[in-house]
Amino acid sequence: MAEPRTPHEVVARAARATDLADLDAGVSDCFACPRLVGWREEVARTRRAAFRDQTYWGRPVPGLGAADARIAILGLAPAAHGGNRTGRIFTGDRSGDVLFAALHRAGLANQPTSVAADDGLTVRDTRIFAAVRCAPPDNKPTPDERDTCAPWLHREVTLIRPTLRVVVALGAFAWAAWWPVLRQVYGQRPPSPRPAFGHGAHWSGTDAPDLLGCYHVSQQNTFTGRLTPEMLDDVFGWAKQLAGVD
Ligand code: SF4
Repeated sequence: MAEPRTPHEVVARAARATDLADLDAGVSDCFACPRLVGWREEVARTRRAAFRDQTYWGRPVPGLGAADARIAILGLAPAAHGGNRTGRIFTGDRSGDVLFAALHRAGLANQPTSVAADDGLTVRDTRIFAAVRCAPPDNKPTPDERDTCAPWLHREVTLIRPTLRVVVALGAFAWAAWWPVLRQVYGQRPPSPRPAFGHGAHWSGTDAPDLLGCYHVSQQNTFTGRLTPEMLDDVFGWAKQLAGVD
């Protein structure tokens, strides 16, 4: 099956995905955003000095976790030297260190670290994915890139919809990316005005997952103390409670 190279081809390929493995394969083969394809490949070619002896993944990064997830964690996009290097979301960077330590404390991950795709990490009751699947320059996808990538997210949520109860949006970008999902996957008109993002923000609809806001686990937030481990523990404890996860 030819890899998607246009927004229309992303829509068609995502719609055909029959399960998460098929979707992940489609995502990994996507070439629809020229700027992001160029960037992910350039980063993979030039590498960071500390990783010079490694072969970077240099492709889109699919989601991670259970097909029967009750909790979803929605991020912005993979990191250039994290997911774009290791091929697994939130793996091999400081953001992932913070996130998986928190998931481990919450009993949702079997280990507190996520350093490489073959490190033995597993998560339970949880699916982790990003609104945009390729690492963007300066962590800033354009609106066109966000919209081009959205069908992957929409299909992924459709596939886990039967069990999904709570979505934790990491940052304002992810929070905003949820409203089109509500329309496309759940057939619901998003609230107007849109609820504002904030740490601890909570939106609860009918026949759709609850949405929880959490500051992004970026170094910018965790190194400055804007987001602490205790704050993450509170959010994941709340998410588990809403989702009915022990
Ligand atoms: S950002 Fe999404 S749509 Fe664009 S090339 Fe990457 S996977 Fe494809």
